[in-house]
Amino acid sequence: MSSSIAKRLGGKVAIITGGASGIGASTVRLFLKQGAKVIVADIQDELGHALCKDLNSDDVTYAHCDVSIEDDVRNTIKDVVARHGKLDVMFNNAAIPGDYRPGVLDADWENFEKVMSVNLIGAFLGAKHAARAMVPARKGSILFTSSVASVIAGHIPHAYTCSKYAVVGLTKNLAVDLGRYGIRVNCISPYGVATTMLKNGMEMEEDETEQLVSRAANLKGVVVKAEDMANAALYLASDESRYVSGLNLVVDGGFSTVNPSFDKILAQEKG
Ligand code: NAD
Repeated sequence: MSSSIAKRLGGKVAIITGGASGIGASTVRLFLKQGAKVIVADIQDELGHALCKDLNSDDVTYAHCDVSIEDDVRNTIKDVVARHGKLDVMFNNAAIPGDYRPGVLDADWENFEKVMSVNLIGAFLGAKHAARAMVPARKGSILFTSSVASVIAGHIPHAYTCSKYAVVGLTKNLAVDLGRYGIRVNCISPYGVATTMLKNGMEMEEDETEQLVSRAANLKGVVVKAEDMANAALYLASDESRYVSGLNLVVDGGFSTVNPSFDKILAQEKG
C-alpha cells in the first residue's frame, strides 16, 4: 500500500482558517501528517509563515485571508483551486472572542457587529466559496468550529454565544442545502482549550488555564488539548465520516451534559 493511501487525508487539499494559532495550528500539523496539502489562512502573517517554516514541507503554505472580507475569501479559494485543481476540505475555524465583559448592560453594538462579522459572516463566506469550488467535484467536507457555548448558556459574552449558536444553525442548513451535491457539512464544539483566545480571556498562563478548566471539567484524568479538536476535525474531514453530515460534534468530555447546581447546593447544605 502506498503511504498516501495509508494516510487518512492522503491526496486531499484543505484550507484551515485561523490556522496560524491554537486549534487551527494543531489541525494544520495533524492534517499535514495525515497526507493533506494544507493552506493556512489567517491574518497573523508572521505567525502563519513561522508555522509553515517550522513544518518545512512543500505541502503547507500560508495565505493572508481576513475571513470577514469576501474578496479575501474568494481569492484564497480561487488561488488554491488554480494551484491544486480542487478543494476537498474547508475548515472555517477562525474566530474572535470580542469584548469579554459578559453583561448586556455594558454591551455595545460595534463589538457585537465585529464578532458576528468574523465568527458568523466569515464562516458563511468560507462555506459559500468553498461550496462553489466543491460542487463540480460532487464531494467535499465543510467544517466549522463552533463552541461548547452553542449548547450551554450564561458563562460567555452574548455576541460570542450568539455567533456560535448561529454557526450550528448554518451547519445544519448547509448540510441540507449541499447534500444534493455530495458535500458534507459539520461542526465541532470544543470545551475550554488553553489557546491564546482562552488564556487572554481568563488573564492566565497556560498551566493555570488548564488547571482551572480541568477543575470545572466533567471528565477527569484527561487535560483537554487543541489536539483533541484536531482529531475531531480529522475524522470529519476524512472519508471515515463519509455519511456524517449536519452534526455538531461536541468535544467537551460531557461538560455540557452536567448541571452541577443541585450538587453545589447539596454540598453547601452539608457544610
Ligand atoms: P486562537 O486565538 O489561538 O486562534 C484563532 C485564530 O483565528 C488566530 O490565529 C487568529 O489570528 C485567527 N483570526 C481571527 N480573526 C480572523 C480573521 N478575521 N480572519 C482570519 N483569521 C482570523 O484561538 P483558538 O482557541 O484556537 O480558536 C479557534 C476556534 O476555536 C475559534 O472558532 C474559537 O471560537 C473556537 N473555540 C475555542 C475554545 C477555546 O477554549 N480555546 C473553545 C470553544 C471554541
